Amino acid sequence: MADLMSVSEALARILEGIGQVEAEEVGLAQAVGRILAADLTSPMDSPPFDTSSMDGYAVRAADLAEAGIRLRVVADVTAGQTLETLLQPGEAARIMTGAAVPPGADAIIPVEQTDADWGGVPGAVGPSEVTFRTVAKLNDNIRPRGENVTQGQLVLSAGTRLRPQDVGMAASVGLARLSVSRRPRVVVVSSGDELAAPGQPLSPGMIYNSNGVMLAGLIEQWGGEPVVLPTAPDTHEGVRAVFEQALAQKPDMLVSSAGVSVGAADYVKAVLAELGQVDFWKMNIRPGKPLAYGRLGGVPFFGLPGNPVSAMVTAIVVLRPALFKLTGQADDSHTIRAVIGEDIPSDGRRSYVRVRLAQENGQTVARLTGTQSSGALFSMVLADGLLIVPEGIKRLAAGDAAEVLLLR
Ligand code: AMP
Ligand code: MG
Repeated sequence: MADLMSVSEALARILEGIGQVEAEEVGLAQAVGRILAADLTSPMDSPPFDTSSMDGYAVRAADLAEAGIRLRVVADVTAGQTLETLLQPGEAARIMTGAAVPPGADAIIPVEQTDADWGGVPGAVGPSEVTFRTVAKLNDNIRPRGENVTQGQLVLSAGTRLRPQDVGMAASVGLARLSVSRRPRVVVVSSGDELAAPGQPLSPGMIYNSNGVMLAGLIEQWGGEPVVLPTAPDTHEGVRAVFEQALAQKPDMLVSSAGVSVGAADYVKAVLAELGQVDFWKMNIRPGKPLAYGRLGGVPFFGLPGNPVSAMVTAIVVLRPALFKLTGQADDSHTIRAVIGEDIPSDGRRSYVRVRLAQENGQTVARLTGTQSSGALFSMVLADGLLIVPEGIKRLAAGDAAEVLLLR
């Protein structure tokens, strides 16, 4: 196994040569799924004022030291309004949820704790005097200014893949546009004379191209903009023509599948060497040992294996971190520890085994999804995660614990 390169060394070599794309500004409506390019601090306190969290009465807590006190209602504050005058001792102001607490008031008493009956009628005017059934404590039912976040507070970190709640947060502090990494263009090339496009009839000896859409989907999921080209035939000129077409797309990254093994029709390495530079590695990984990595017209090029499971596993292991580095995206992969439900043989390479997870007797148990053939994409469909058998291990026994990388 001396000729096999460890996954971490291969990855380190790849990442060394990858820089970050430039940032651009987008409106909030376009921001979900994009990668935040710079730390975001709040330009304001949120909420921007002390807010009532109840429909009721704003009072001075000192006035309601005991239950049964009657106060004069001197004002009506609805959401979006403020009261200019100071609430005096003996006074209360009717107030709605979300309205600014009037100056002088320091507690809100819900209407249900008074003898006032608003009758559930929207717009109904309340009585001019109200009796309170309860005592008031300072700050009761008040959301203080800055309770959510304060001005200058870090709310989102650079590298965050923006979720709806992140974009909502930016909106809540008044930001309309965000600085995000440009979506890298990643060209996807499939090669092989046996590949037919889904939807077309299948002649004898042909199979459908599954890698093309799958890789495009992964790239999209990882923050890139996939550009899928027509399938390259298994000829030197054919592969060369498609690679030239790929470069014309002005991509940030290039991904091909198949044609990197030792078969008579595997032209990817040869054409890559001709048009650019090639590093070919046999990684210490299963599935997906052969990986052609290099540069085509200066653009990072990943020649992934053709078998669909190998293509997806190597994409997860090497393409994903490279794409994340391009956009500055922070690693958000999730691994959990699971108990192995059955013996798992391995061959000493680092193996990514497709497993299903189940909760049994308070433990997370991992079981194989069936055949682990690198051609059996259904094993990936059934899988909740990839169980990692470390390098140098020939067998994991039922009951052992192992790391499982969760799939989305
Ligand atoms: P190769 O690397 O060209 O020797 O291909 C390895 C295996 O993957 C062969 O069985 C191919 O038929 C299969 N394969 C290659 N490309 C694709 C693809 N785009 N979709 C599905 N299977 C593929
Ligand atoms: Mg082939």
